[in-house]
Amino acid sequence: MKCPMCEKGALKKGKVKETMFGVDLGEFPADICDKCGESFTDSATTKKIEEAAKKKSI
Ligand SMILES: [Zn+2]
Repeated sequence: MKCPMCEKGALKKGKVKETMFGVDLGEFPADICDKCGESFTDSATTKKIEEAAKKKSI
């Protein structure tokens, strides 16, 4: 899979540390570009991140 951000790198499965407003939400599975380092999470993971943020009342 090609990176939609830089269109040069390839996306690889990995984990990203998500933070929101400086608060650590934990690690989540994501596709990470090996060139620009941009990370992409699918809709299910994005929901989980939002839930984690809610729990921390962000
Ligand atoms: Zn990229």
